Amino acid sequence: MSHQPLPLAVRPVRAFSDNYIWLIEAPDGPGRVVAVDPGDAAPVVAELRRSGASLAAILLTHHHADHIGGVAALLELGKVPVIGPDDDRIPLRTRTVRDGDRCDMSDLGLSFDTLAVPGHTLSHVAFWGHGALFCGDTLFSAGCGRMFEGTPAQMNSSLNRLRDLPPETRMFCGHEYTAANLKFALAVDPANAAALAHRAEVDRLRAADLPSLPSTLALEIRINPFLRCDNPTVRAAAEAHAGRSLPEESAVFGALRAWKDQFR
Ligand code: ZN
Ligand code: FE
Repeated sequence: MSHQPLPLAVRPVRAFSDNYIWLIEAPDGPGRVVAVDPGDAAPVVAELRRSGASLAAILLTHHHADHIGGVAALLELGKVPVIGPDDDRIPLRTRTVRDGDRCDMSDLGLSFDTLAVPGHTLSHVAFWGHGALFCGDTLFSAGCGRMFEGTPAQMNSSLNRLRDLPPETRMFCGHEYTAANLKFALAVDPANAAALAHRAEVDRLRAADLPSLPSTLALEIRINPFLRCDNPTVRAAAEAHAGRSLPEESAVFGALRAWKDQFR
């Protein structure tokens, strides 16, 4: 008899052009699922019908419409807890979680730690538990979200908090941006063997119309330039592109993010 807990069963629901709404199967609630960032109700409803599952709760990482836009229509199927950060721009929230809060759904056998990760938006949170990380638009595979509301120092420290979670953590982010992100990652660090190998794997998956996710933090630490702002090669590339020296790690991050914003 094994005492190793089974990995959390999580499946993607595609929404819009490149969003993923993650459905987490409740370990203690057969047929019940938790939806993370349901920006659109229709594909979630279709997946619930197809699988015979029922919605038990909604987790929200941040207020952007492509992450919360389906909440109202999903609540018409039945009232469920809507758990998210303290932000008036998330109007249907029934429970607020702040940094360090434990997000328990004991009837479902689920429990996540809440991490405040400001940068993409100021109130953005990530949920970490059961060896899985739901990080919305903060960390992407081989990249990170745009800095809409935060400063480079804020977003850099948010990303470093995620980087410092256990390396075996499976990372479930909000968008399928991996191929474009790897193109940038390899512009920053062309000789990165892990990124080159991963590009081949992602090309194969995407050609078969399969998600490139989840990733793992162990992989991201090797391929993601935004988690490697303390790396001399990454720093040198950022300095060469910016045309000035970048003594602070947060300045390296800021220069990389600005470079990526106009990278094609
Ligand atoms: Zn967003
Ligand atoms: Fe988004």
